[in-house]
Amino acid sequence: MNKEGFNSMGLKDDLLKMIDEKGFEQPTPIQQQTIPLAIAGLDVMGQAQTGTGKTASFGIPILNTVSKGGGIQALIVCPTRELAVQVREEIAFLGRGLHINALAVYGGQSIEIQMRALGRRPEIIVGTPGRLLDHLRRGSIKLGGLKFVVLDEADEMLDMGFLPDIETVLQQCPEKRQTFLFSATLVDEIRDLGQKFMNKPEIVLIESAERTVAVIEQVYYQVNPRRKVETMCRILDVEQPPVSLVFCRTKKSADELARILNSRGYTADALHGDMSQRERDSVMHRFRTGSTKILVATDLAARGLDVELVTHVFNYDIPEELDSYIHRTGRTGRAGRTGVAITLVEPSQLRQLRLIERYTGKRIQPGILPTLQEAVQRHQELLLSRLLKAAEQPGEVYLNMAARILEQGEAKNLLAAALKIMADDTPDLETTEFDESDRGTTAHVELPAGRLQGIHPRRLVELLTANTSLSPKQIGDIEINSNTTYVEVPMSSIDEVYQAFISFERNKKGGRPPYRPQKHRSKKMEVGHRGR
Ligand code: AMP
Repeated sequence: MNKEGFNSMGLKDDLLKMIDEKGFEQPTPIQQQTIPLAIAGLDVMGQAQTGTGKTASFGIPILNTVSKGGGIQALIVCPTRELAVQVREEIAFLGRGLHINALAVYGGQSIEIQMRALGRRPEIIVGTPGRLLDHLRRGSIKLGGLKFVVLDEADEMLDMGFLPDIETVLQQCPEKRQTFLFSATLVDEIRDLGQKFMNKPEIVLIESAERTVAVIEQVYYQVNPRRKVETMCRILDVEQPPVSLVFCRTKKSADELARILNSRGYTADALHGDMSQRERDSVMHRFRTGSTKILVATDLAARGLDVELVTHVFNYDIPEELDSYIHRTGRTGRAGRTGVAITLVEPSQLRQLRLIERYTGKRIQPGILPTLQEAVQRHQELLLSRLLKAAEQPGEVYLNMAARILEQGEAKNLLAAALKIMADDTPDLETTEFDESDRGTTAHVELPAGRLQGIHPRRLVELLTANTSLSPKQIGDIEINSNTTYVEVPMSSIDEVYQAFISFERNKKGGRPPYRPQKHRSKKMEVGHRGR
């Protein structure tokens, strides 16, 4: 793959090193457009959603310019604490080689902790509007030396009623500075804001990646990490995919999965970078000629693989890079055929799934894992259809054999025996009895607030039961992390629950959480609402 992209942008070596370490090989479209403009000193107004690589598109030029020990030189304003934390993390990582410090300041965290962190003289501040104002008023953040201001997810900030706060912050920024604004939509209000506070901004528009995955049916299954192989086998038993490409994260796991699948009677080969060219050629030959139906590969090994007949792509391990999802799924649905992309998602990976959805602009439908009974039924249907198809033209030799065999025994027994022999050639059915949550009839919805924002299990249940059709009994496990919460609800209620929570958030003024007090927040993660 072409690595020239970042290298030809005039970036500092220590920054390029971290870009490489982060695994970014090529700039994303928004980075390709934004970074050169930003480095040339221009203001940029970008229409781009999360998942397009927009953070690095402003983070990289900022990091390339600010100087270590020079005080606060960049301010990034975000609508939510969750985003602020995420943006800081990405920038802090990329800035590590240059020893540039980034600090996130947001409501819900003690201001004293933030004051202390400010004492360590960060060069970059990422913050939510309310808390930023607080610091400005106290004088703990001074913006005199600012070179960059970024308004991230500007439409969200306007929707949340932050416009007056943002204007107050911007009025305190030096006039001579660069301003970047990112927003999912560039509606009039956003353009007006740009007019008022930016200097002849260049407009950058990024199309969603929708077309890339348009003809592919996309499904995900929630999996229990301990039963991933079993889940995979159950899906294979029922889908009976003719030609599958399965993606694993590492060479080792690709080898391991191929071995297990073979031991269970599926025909699978692994393909990865540790194999010699001869081995790879022979694996590809078997796959192309249909001797193996399942190719288990790593992203790297599958690059450049051009197999037209792949009917199913499995993300056994969900891709870490959003672009990989498009590359992987693009391996099916070739040449106008329809394809299926199936992603196995562990509970901790739901967030990544949502990022993928936002990146591709398409919903990935939740699948319900079939029962053993359904797998058996499907298995029998397939045996029967193979038999009936063969019976259309069995051929003279076999007809003569059949006539002779029928003289030796009961027709029913003989047919049953023939079926059994046919069945012996097919993989063993996966016999695990998955329970309800394994089968994905419930799902864990991720809500964008957590312990630091004062989410409390009982109050969350109250909020959801008051604003959705759910009864408390239908709400399962609640897992509260620092900035996110997972709540288990029936699959059919995912959207309703998410929407109810978001509208509740939006409606509260000035970003004050409805579920205070926060004084008695529990420090450890809280799991399991049932029985409380
Ligand atoms: P963002 O749109 O900034 O939220 O970025 C979405 C994800 O894409 C993050 O996980 C980034 O680390 C990742 N990302 C950003 N730029 C690149 C790149 N050039 N190549 C691969 N991944 C990237």
